[in-house]
Amino acid sequence: PVRVRFCPSPTGSPHVGLVRTALFNWAFARHHGGQIVFRMEDTDRERSTQESYDAIVELWRWLGLDWDEGIEVGGPHGPYKQSERGDIYRDVLARLRESSYSYDCFCTNDEVTARRQASGSKMQGYDGFCRDLSDEQRAAFEAEGRSPIVRFRMPDGSITWNDAVRGDITFETENVPDFALSRANGDPLYTLVNPVDDALMEITHVLRGEDLLSSTPRQLALLEALVALGVAKEVPVYGHLPYVMGQGNKKLSKRDPEAHALAYREQGFLPEGLLNYLALLGWAIAADRDIFSMQEMLEAFDIADVNPNPARFDLKKAEAINASQMRLLTVEDITHRALPFLKEAGVVSDPVSDADAQLLELAMPLVAERINKLTEAAPMLGFLFVDEADFVRDPDDVAKLLDDTGRGVVQASYDALSGLHTWSTAAIEEALRVALIEGMELKPRMAFGPVRVAVTGKRISPPLFESMELLGRERSLARLQSALG
Ligand code: GLU
Repeated sequence: PVRVRFCPSPTGSPHVGLVRTALFNWAFARHHGGQIVFRMEDTDRERSTQESYDAIVELWRWLGLDWDEGIEVGGPHGPYKQSERGDIYRDVLARLRESSYSYDCFCTNDEVTARRQASGSKMQGYDGFCRDLSDEQRAAFEAEGRSPIVRFRMPDGSITWNDAVRGDITFETENVPDFALSRANGDPLYTLVNPVDDALMEITHVLRGEDLLSSTPRQLALLEALVALGVAKEVPVYGHLPYVMGQGNKKLSKRDPEAHALAYREQGFLPEGLLNYLALLGWAIAADRDIFSMQEMLEAFDIADVNPNPARFDLKKAEAINASQMRLLTVEDITHRALPFLKEAGVVSDPVSDADAQLLELAMPLVAERINKLTEAAPMLGFLFVDEADFVRDPDDVAKLLDDTGRGVVQASYDALSGLHTWSTAAIEEALRVALIEGMELKPRMAFGPVRVAVTGKRISPPLFESMELLGRERSLARLQSALG
């Protein structure tokens, strides 16, 4: 069976590139009826934080990127935090050390650099000095009090793999120096633990970012050795997903504000919207189709269809995709999802009172079709929920629309509405049309703009007549009057 992994490093705020990688792994595994393992790559003790770990778990849960075994849920290949797997790594390291796949290396970095300079070599990395030490040389180093690190012996020749995204890739191993597997104190290094975990967790497909491509020849060589030693069953298939580029065609980095995945949740994106957008970074469901569900994605997903060329992150497009996903939700669903934002903005009470809940049920249909993010409901609905004493109008909109002419319009509206028998959307509309459009011969924009600012406090609001019906006769008239100054 297909087995893939989510393996973020819990350092800092999770990046959208990380989520894109997770999404493609998820779609691939779910398409094939496979399994997803979630391990936390927290080997870097200095940079790993609990805060980042929690943010990642929360983000994955919010997105609905589910996993079958791993952190938080357990499973037969645990523990799933690298920081808790030290004994496992030391055990594998001991087996590599007994074999010819690795050797003890006593060199310091300065010594390697000095030798490189003396020979005029442009090569980076280790020069193989300790590859075949004699017993005497070894003893001499030990007598100096040096402790060795374990270094992997890259095989001769070349390493080729059939990348699931890019096709055949070959590296000549003369360009891939022997690499360290442990520190001098015996601590295993990331170069060891990442492939060891893939082997022990029986990962069949490693789908990850292009930034890791240059480490793949080393990992493949190590995995071959692990297979030969009986530690690994098989070498996984590797596939490298395209870079995500930001502004100015530079790689989207943690410094770019749009890179922070949790910020989308705070801004009122739907998980469906963010995932749908991220799916488009390197993949397409069809030539002229942008909007789809995750169910449709997993049914259609083929890793061979991923475009290896860099993908460009476009915030405007992400917002447009989110807006389209909003249109697919029922008003009840939007209300439910917008509720936390409405509470936070203080529009409705927390816990929400019966009166607020009732008003919200009537008001949400007016805005559901107009908002592109969940956060946009609060500023549009605030005028309905606010206590009259706290009602304020946008000063810019007041300056623009409630000038002398505007106030004249508001006065005429007040006169037309104060005698109205039935306070309904249709009756309000009819009365205002007669008074303003016919009576004053105003264009609709000139007629209703001032009324809108008077009643809702803003130039942009839900539909005016419906809003006034909901607001009620008394409050609507009071606002028209107070706008007159
Ligand atoms: N933990 C690595 C990262 O967050 C991923 C390594 C891999 O996918 O092999 O960049």
